[in-house]
Parts: sequence; structure tokens; C-alpha cells
Amino acid sequence: MGPIRCSRCKAYINPFMSFVDQGKIFICNLCGFSNDTPREYLCNLGPDGRRRDANDRPELSRGTVEFVASKEFLVREPMPAVYFFLVDVSMNAVHTGATAAACSAISQALSDLPEGPRTMVGIATFDSAIHFYSLKRAQQQCCSIKFYLFILLNSVKFILLLQIDSDKTIVVTFKHDDKFQENSECAFQCALLYTTVYGQRRIRVINISLPCTSMLSNLFRYADLETQFTYIVKQAANGIASTPPSQVRDQVTSTCINILQSYRKYCASVSSSGQLILPEALKLLPLYTLALIKSIGLRNDGRIDDRSYWISIVSSISVFLAVPLVFPRMIALHDLASRDDEYSLIPNPLTLNSENIQDDGIYLLENGEDGFIYVGNAVNTATIEQIFGLSSLAGVPNQLVLEQFDNELSMKVNEVVNEIRRQRCSYLRLRLCQKGDPSGDFFRSLLVEDKAPGGLSYVEFLIHVHRQIQSKMT
Ligand SMILES: [Zn+2]
Repeated sequence: MGPIRCSRCKAYINPFMSFVDQGKIFICNLCGFSNDTPREYLCNLGPDGRRRDANDRPELSRGTVEFVASKEFLVREPMPAVYFFLVDVSMNAVHTGATAAACSAISQALSDLPEGPRTMVGIATFDSAIHFYSLKRAQQQCCSIKFYLFILLNSVKFILLLQIDSDKTIVVTFKHDDKFQENSECAFQCALLYTTVYGQRRIRVINISLPCTSMLSNLFRYADLETQFTYIVKQAANGIASTPPSQVRDQVTSTCINILQSYRKYCASVSSSGQLILPEALKLLPLYTLALIKSIGLRNDGRIDDRSYWISIVSSISVFLAVPLVFPRMIALHDLASRDDEYSLIPNPLTLNSENIQDDGIYLLENGEDGFIYVGNAVNTATIEQIFGLSSLAGVPNQLVLEQFDNELSMKVNEVVNEIRRQRCSYLRLRLCQKGDPSGDFFRSLLVEDKAPGGLSYVEFLIHVHRQIQSKMT
């Protein structure tokens, strides 16, 4: 028997469906339809009205469950897995060791690939041309994935994806025209029909049920800044392909202003008319907005390749990584050895302001993708030697491979970088940035709170936002 579903809207059984009439009827929480409970799924209700077996059944007690798909979900055999490796063998890649590292990673990965009789493996290398190779024997199986999304009540949308992994996020905007009932709940269900790398068909069902409110202040109180901001970032990345960056920057700023203006208009007290009022949960929205305007994707002085790369990352980025990509974290490295905070390996981040940069300091700024190590022009030679193993950084290339040397500072710097790599699930390419060099200027351009040639400082931006709200209010 496959998972129980509503016979009208096809929603999957979930903890928010209610059983009545001694368990013989279940009422769908997505469309309200009363369904007959299949005979083999019957169970008595307890005094609290819940099924007595609810706690023993994951689908009746957990928000997210996975079902093994029954025959009706198999239109045909799952696709065989195809693993295709493309290796950079250009002169630069060979010299920097990237090619050797890739080959060694591939040979390790091959033995870890899930076994399967139909699995296929291919390899190609590229420099100025692409080279294909004929391989004798290979094995694997791939994920072909269907992503089903049930949207509110009885409207169902299907999205077909070729492949998905745990690092991808899908954003959906809901538009609802009817009125919600106060004190009722609004149900969402998302079902993913997919094939695992081992060739098993599964359905992952994710449920959430949220209370409705007519109080706008509740909406602001429980606003999830990270999620909202990720949506704004993805929309901006989506718009940049067809809209000039200046226009996208204006749209992003207007979104911020409109949100804060509604709060001002409907939620803030009248007495606070002269101030910029920020809802507690969204108090960082203007700062994040400013960071987005100055990001690699939306800034004017960026290289087109960097912008394209940014857009492609953002299109699938998770909420967890979207904020640091736009609003990076900066920490001081030079004084790590003298720091004793046993609670956290990574010191408290510094605000992204050049006032925090001293000429005798070394700083790491990371956005989950890249780590920029900035070295001031008055750093003492001993510190440079401890971290980099060199007495001078003159002529050292920007691409940096951090080595560990036999001293406490070097050990701590490596610990911090490795911890960031672990947190971000990313290799974190390191780049050296030096004061008095274009790389140093680039580093400073990432300090989003500073006034920049093409952008306002954080204080100026807050004033701008405040004025715009005031002029909309009058
Ligand atoms: Zn239903």
C-alpha cells in the first residue's frame, strides 16, 4: 500500500489531518474534504481525539517523512546514474597543482560511488580543447527527480528537476486572494518524488501548518529575515539578466523602503514620527539591502564573469549561505594567538567598516565562497613569517594556499579557516589582498558600511531610507 492520500486534492497524509467518526473518516487539512479511511489503515481514537497509534506512525507525528514509492509512482525504471568528470588540464591548473588534486579526488571518489550494474562513468579533460577518453568498464546510477509541490487547497503544481541535492533551495511565492479566517491554520505541503543514488524511488513529504492573523504587527514580529532576504537576493539575481543593474538596485532599495514604510504606517506608535523605526526582527534589513546593492552581482565596477558566476550561485543557494555571500564575515587574524575564548574557535566578527582595519593588522573576510586575507602595510615581519612562512609578501601571487607552520598563530589561523570551511561546506578559496595593491582596494570595496565611489555609507543609506519613508508618509 502506498501512502494514504486525500482522494480530492491528492495531498499526502500528515500530522495536521484530523480523524473523526471513530477514525473512519479523515479530514484533509489542505482542502477540507472528508475521506473514508482505508480499512487497513483504521485505528481507534484516544480520549484526546488523536489516533491511538499516532505517535508510532511517523506520517502522523512528524513534519517531514519519507515513503518508499509504490509501483504506481514508477512510470519506468529509474534512469541509470551517469558520473561525468571534467578535468582542467590547462598550463595554469597543472602548475598550481589543481589537476593533480582533481585526479586524486576523482580516483578516491570512484571507489566510493554507489554500486549499480547500469552505472556509467565518463571523463574528459580540457585546456584550449576538450579531450574525450574511451573507458572500458564503469558503473553507476543517477538521480532523476520529480519535484511535486502542492499549492494551497486544491491547486497542484508540478515542477520537474533533472537533479537536486541537499545544497539546493527552491523559492516559491504564494498569492492568495481569499480572506483567511482568524484563528484558522494555513497548511503547506511539498512532496518530492525522487530516485536515490542507490536507485530507490522515494517520496519525501514536508508539511507545515501556520496560524493566520489579521494583525500586521504579528507578521513583523515573526518575520524571518534570513528567508525574506534570500528571496530578495534571488529575485535580484533573476532580474539582472534582463534589467540594467541600476534598476535592480533601485528595486531592491524600494523593497526595503516599502517593508519599513508599512511597519511605520500600521505598527509603529504615532509619537515616534521623527525617527526611523525598524521592526526588531528586520532591524538588519537596511544593512543587508545596502550589502546587496554593493554585491558582486549588482555593483557597477564588477567583471562580467564574476557577475555571471554570482548569478549562477545565487539561483540555487540555500538560505543558510545566501546571507554570508552578500554580507560577509570579517575577523582579525593577527591577534588569534593571544585570544582565549574557549567557547568558539572563530572570534566575533568585526563590522564591515574600514575603521576596523589597522595598518599593522591581518584580516580574513569570508563569504562562504572566497576567503580574502588582507595584510596591512605595517604588519610586523615576525607575524607575517608565523602565518605565511615568508619574511615578506612582496611578489606573492593572490591565489593563496595556507600552510601550517610550527607556531601557535599559524595553528590557530589554520583552525579558524578549517572551521569556516566546515561551517560553510565549502573549500573557501583563499586570496591574498595587500594594502597599496589593487587586491587591497578590492578588499576595501567589500566593506559595505563604508562610503564607496558608487555607493552610500551605512549611515547615509539609513538617512536615505528614512527620508523616503517620510516623503511617502506625507
Ligand atoms: Zn484534500
